[in-house]
Formats: sequence, C-alpha cells, structure tokens
Amino acid sequence: MTTTAGPRTYQVRTYGCQMNVHDSERISGLLEAAGYVRAEADDADVVVFNTCAVRENADNRLYGNLGHLRPTKMRRPDMQIAVGGCLAQKDRGEIVKKAPWVDVVFGTHNIGSLPTMLERARHNAEAEVEILESLEVFPSTLPARRESTYAGWVSISVGCNNTCTFCIVPSLRGREKDRRPGEILAEVEALVAEGVLEVTLLGQNVNSYGVEFGDRLAFGKLLRSCGSISGLERVRFTSPHPKDFTDDVIAAMAETPNVCHSLHMPLQSGSDAVLKAMRRSYRQERYLGIIDKVRAAMPDAAITTDIIVGFPGETESDFAQTLDVVRQARFSSAFTFQYSPRPGTPAATMDDQVPKAVVQERYERLMEVVEETTWAENQALVGSRVEVLVAVGEGRKDERTGRMSGRARDGRLVHFATGSLDGIRPGDVVETVVSYAAPHHLNADGEPLSHRRTRAGDAFEAGRAPRTPGVSLGMPSVGRPPIQPLPTESACSVQ
Ligand code: SF4
Repeated sequence: MTTTAGPRTYQVRTYGCQMNVHDSERISGLLEAAGYVRAEADDADVVVFNTCAVRENADNRLYGNLGHLRPTKMRRPDMQIAVGGCLAQKDRGEIVKKAPWVDVVFGTHNIGSLPTMLERARHNAEAEVEILESLEVFPSTLPARRESTYAGWVSISVGCNNTCTFCIVPSLRGREKDRRPGEILAEVEALVAEGVLEVTLLGQNVNSYGVEFGDRLAFGKLLRSCGSISGLERVRFTSPHPKDFTDDVIAAMAETPNVCHSLHMPLQSGSDAVLKAMRRSYRQERYLGIIDKVRAAMPDAAITTDIIVGFPGETESDFAQTLDVVRQARFSSAFTFQYSPRPGTPAATMDDQVPKAVVQERYERLMEVVEETTWAENQALVGSRVEVLVAVGEGRKDERTGRMSGRARDGRLVHFATGSLDGIRPGDVVETVVSYAAPHHLNADGEPLSHRRTRAGDAFEAGRAPRTPGVSLGMPSVGRPPIQPLPTESACSVQ
C-alpha cells in the first residue's frame, strides 16, 4: 500500500528538554511550509523523531521505537522516517547502520535542511545523513507551528561554553551562539501581534547571553526591553547559571512589570566538593547569596531548581549539604534526578560511582525534604489573590470537580472553580483566591474575582493553529508553534 492522494502528512515525536520542544515547533513549521499537513491519526507519511541524548537508555528507546515502525515501513515503502536531535548528532551514520529502514538522519545544527533531505531520500531511494559541526541557521528564524495560542518560546542563544562533567550538551549543541537583541525582540513582537501573552526566553545559559558580542549586561537589558512591548503580559526565561548570574538581572526582573517573579536556577548539588567534580564553577555560598538577593528584591519570587543525587564521589556528608540547601532555599519546586552515567560524558568514567541502592535511598530522602519545603511554600499562599493564565490541556474543565487549571504569574499550577462564569477559554486570564495548597499545586474553590477574555482565547476558540513565518529563508507564511507556560525540565539540565 502507498500513500493516499493529497498532501503528505507528518508527525513529530519529541523527547527531552524545552530546546527540543522549541526545535520541534520549527520542524513542524518547516514541514508545513513545504506542504505537509499534520497527521490526525497514527498513520503519518513522515515520522520525525526529535531525540534527546541525555536521558538514560535514550539509545535503547530510540532503536526500540524505530523497530516498532519497521513493519509499517515494510508495508508502506513510501512512508519516511527521519531522526534528528542530540542522539542523531551523536550517533550519525550509526543510525542507518543499525536501522537501515530509516530515511533521513539530521543533526541539531541543520534542522532547516529536513524538507530537502526528505525529498532527496525519496528521489534517490536511499538514506540521507547530514550532520553539521556548527549552526547553519538559528532555529528561531525558521518557520514554526506553535502548540499554544497564548505562549511561545524564543531562543536567545544555542550551545554552551561550559563543560559540566555530567552533560553532553556542549559536545552536541556546540559552543554558545547568541542572537542579536533586535532580532529577538522582533520575534517577540511578532508573537505578541499573533495574540501571545507569555514568552519564555530560552538558552542553555541565559546569563552568559551577550558574551559573544561583548556585552556582559545584555541579558538584563533584554529583559527590560521586553518590558516595553505592549500586550506582552508575562516574560519568563530558562535556564540561568549561578556562575554568570549578575545583580543587574535581578534588578531587571524586579523593575520590569511583565517579567514574572519566577526563577528556575539549577543547583545540581549543595556540596562544594561535588560542584567542583561536576565542574560547576559556583559554590553553595554563591548560590544561596543569589537567592537572598532575589528574595530581597522580589519577596514573592517562586524559585525552582534541578538537583542530581548520587553524582560520582558524593558522600553522605555531601548529600546532607544538598538537603540543607533545599531547606534554606525554600524551593517552590525541584526537578530531581538520580545520577546515572551518560556515555560520552567525563563523569561516566569517574571512579567512585555511587551504588544504585544508595542513590535510590538518598533520592527518596531528598524527595521528602523537597515535598515538605514546597508544601510549606504553597501553604503560605492560601488566602492570597492569584492571576491565572488558563492553560491548554490543563485548561480543560474537569467535569467531576468543575475546575479548570492554569499557571499563576509565579509559575505555580492552579486549579480553580469557574463558579458562575461561563465561556472561559485556554489563553484567558482569571483572577481568583487560593483556598487550599498541596505540595505541587494550589486550588482556588471560591467564585473567581474576574475573567478577562483575550485574543489568545479567541484564537483557541476559533481553532486557529498558531503559525509564524520564517524570517531568514523567504519561506511562505507558516505558523509558529505553541508554548507551555512552564518548562517541565530546564533547558540546561538533565544534565
Ligand atoms: S549542564 Fe547546562 S551549563 Fe552545564 S554544560 Fe550542560 S548545558 Fe552547559
């Protein structure tokens, strides 16, 4: 059987961090610009895997998924399979050796070539493998199909100049490249013109933004410039790096009304010895010092983090220091990871790997302390007024509880009763009062105080797929993809 008549359909399967989510929006946008349409069912003519190399067993999972698709490919030879992302950048031609039914392998630096490569593979009836060593075109300049009408990712830099010993990102994404502020702001303005209310500025290390063009204060200035974009209600960013965090960024956050008082700052470990082994060049004192300054400038700030448990050489006393920092920092949420060796990273071959059972036991203790801390932080908000941006997915009304959900300005998840209000849509803004706190969410069960209809809500209701044209390729107008209000994983983590 071959493809049905009409435009070819596609599906993108995304793994890993927000950088991949961002790239997948571009992959979708590029394919749509080339005439493909998104598949509604599981029978796409082109399946693209946007892979992640930092997760444990990422290779096994990819080859398992490719194996599942093999019978389909045998049945429908015209169907195409493409593999991109960090694992493709790492494994390159190995992928078509191990899975010869794959049609295209493309790297993190050349996602713009995907439509051409698919076409060439079809025409030549043989696999195309193209991996570039450095960035060809900033992914943000490519057309995109966003997943949300109200929120968008804007990448400000790609790559990373650090060498954290647990992380494979620098070898796969290359050295940091910064986009110019004018280009970034133009993209933010274009998103806002489409109805987007919230933008997340994305980079592996946003605090080193500007180093490439010689302006150490560029990130704080960028935040302030976002403050003058009319209609932009919420600005977030991820991820900052404690090593490069400067006071001007704290001042810009505090003094720019649309910059949200939420900060996701990876800790990774509270022990100076472990931070040194990780080659994270800040220490516990500096990390806590930044938090003190943030809280002094923004007492309502919600601070979240990433923590790795069981890094090679971590002793019980090192781990106790991590617990201590969690208590002192009063995180409102923490993404916690059990260390496991990732091939290709220096830490994978370090002596003193911590036994799995010890890692597990420490992880459970860490989770307990994190839960206690986040719950206490959430309980302090009961009775306070909260502005909720109603979310897609999370924004669906739960028929049993009568609640909808969304994110507060500080990034917290809020489930709220709609009361006597009708017609609240994802993308709208509701004000309500917190009535109950759980460790990972807030409830607001009283009558909402207000409901504001937004253009993002109108677009959602109209079922318009958010699109953004490419800015550098002369592509036809295509939409840009949607965004999530809060990352589930930091750009620089996993790690
Ligand atoms: S963990 Fe983050 S800062 Fe460190 S090397 Fe990886 S991407 Fe860079």
